[in-house]
Amino acid sequence: MNLFTPLNSESGKNLSGSPKPVEHVRVLILGSGPAGYTAAIYAARANLNPVVYEGIEPGGQLTTTTEVENFPGYPDGVTGTQMMEDLKKQAERFGTDVRFGIATAADLSSMPYRITIDDEKVVETDALIIATGATAKYLGLESENKFKGQGVSACATCDGFFYKGKDVAVVGGGDTAAEEATYLAGLCRKVYLIVRKSYLRASKAMQEKVASTPNIEILFEHTTKEIVGDQSGVNGVILTNTKTGKDVKVDISGFFLAIGHHPNSELFKPWLDTDEVGYIKTLPDSTKTNLPGVFACGDVRDPHYRQAITAAGSGCMAAIDAERYLGERKF
Ligand code: NDP
Repeated sequence: MNLFTPLNSESGKNLSGSPKPVEHVRVLILGSGPAGYTAAIYAARANLNPVVYEGIEPGGQLTTTTEVENFPGYPDGVTGTQMMEDLKKQAERFGTDVRFGIATAADLSSMPYRITIDDEKVVETDALIIATGATAKYLGLESENKFKGQGVSACATCDGFFYKGKDVAVVGGGDTAAEEATYLAGLCRKVYLIVRKSYLRASKAMQEKVASTPNIEILFEHTTKEIVGDQSGVNGVILTNTKTGKDVKVDISGFFLAIGHHPNSELFKPWLDTDEVGYIKTLPDSTKTNLPGVFACGDVRDPHYRQAITAAGSGCMAAIDAERYLGERKF
């Protein structure tokens, strides 16, 4: 599901039919990953009294990863969940108002910009920082949908535990797939890594990690045709060997997607310039979008780097851009 899904929110009334209450804030930040919280820390320290709505996945994608070893300042690594708890605490320490809630509609047609939260209330803001991140992609198979939550998952760290001692498959050839496969290998008997090309796209370090894990078997040049199972869940996957065209059935209990993400920008597309995939476009060396006072940071505007540290960096930029914008406009 999209992190910030548009619902029936344009009517100006909440679900019970009464007018939605309206609140005015100076800086509204949507999203609570490294980008959102870093923007909040900077905005709060600049006395802008930011309000953060956490979205459907508080803490963002990092909460679905295990150990983060490449974020500067943690020589022994840190879990994604711990890092996000720390970032939240740091944002709150300087006065950020962190709230649970999901943006369900947006009206950026005029200032102040209006964001509907949970289809219940409207938050008007002088500056909007969009840090809504990106969401895992699925293959689009009917059988994948059928077994979602019953053996099909896009998060090994969330669901891997359920497959302890069993055989599973991970599809994808990037860093996420390599990381998920390695993580699952620590829990499961065997992990099949299904890669559509003849090579992995993952970084050298991750490739070496996969290669040195004895219970991971890479199935290069294989695509997923169908996931099979019964009432008790997944029990296999049918793969097609793209070289020979032949199908093969592999017995597994869990099927993990790791084929990338799509940006959570749906709500803002009527007003903001995006690329063909939906990543919000920002000006070079800036988080400014095509609308004054609307800034985008983190994975929702980054198809290239998608790292916690780059997201945090752009969150910092967004807060500074917002601060300057508000100062210039004398809001
Ligand atoms: P990527 O886009 O890098 O990789 C997606 C993988 O999925 C590719 O191998 C791609 O195949 C494959 N794929 C896509 N669609 C399909 C499909 N329909 N069927 C089968 N395979 C498919 O996404 P990641 O999530 O792996 O990584 C995103 C970014 O995050 C990267 O920049 C990565 O480096 C970074 N990252 C860094 C980590 C770290 O530093 N610890 C951990 C995780 C991610 P193909 O190669 O053929 O296109």
